[in-house]
Amino acid sequence: MQDKNCIFCKIVKKEIPSELVEESKNFVAFLDVNPKTSGHTLIIPKQHFTNLMDMPAELGNEMLEMAKDIAERRIAGGAEGINLIMNNNPAAGQVVMHAHLHLLPRKKGDGLRMVV
Ligand code: AMP
Ligand code: ZN
Repeated sequence: MQDKNCIFCKIVKKEIPSELVEESKNFVAFLDVNPKTSGHTLIIPKQHFTNLMDMPAELGNEMLEMAKDIAERRIAGGAEGINLIMNNNPAAGQVVMHAHLHLLPRKKGDGLRMVV
C-alpha cells in the first residue's frame, strides 16, 4: 500500500530520484538529502506505514538486518561509530510521515549534538 502524496513512496516508486544505498524485499535505503553527518542514510519500508507504531513488528528483523549491514560497511569505510534514530510523530521530530530509520555514521569530534 502506498500514499500517492508521500515523498518517500515516490522515492520507492522511483518517481523522484534518490541515492540508493541498499534494497531488500520490503525495505530501501538511500542517502538523506540534507545529511547531518557524512553518509547519513534513511532506511524505509517500501509500503507506506506512518511510523513505528503503524509498522508490523514482523518487519523489524529485516529492517535491523539492513541497518546492521550498512553500519558494518560504514565502519569498514572509516566511520568510528553509528547512531540509529527513529523519530515517531511530530512531537518527537518526525517531519516525513512515512516510517524511516536514520543511520548516522559518526566520527569523534564531528560536532553533531544529540538530544538523548
Ligand atoms: P524526520 O525529521 O525524521 O521526519 O526526517 C526526515 C528526513 O528526510 C530529513 O532528514 C530530510 O533531510 C530527509 N528527506 C526529506 N526529503 C528527502 C528526499 N527527497 N530525499 C532524501 N531525504 C529526504
Ligand atoms: Zn509513504
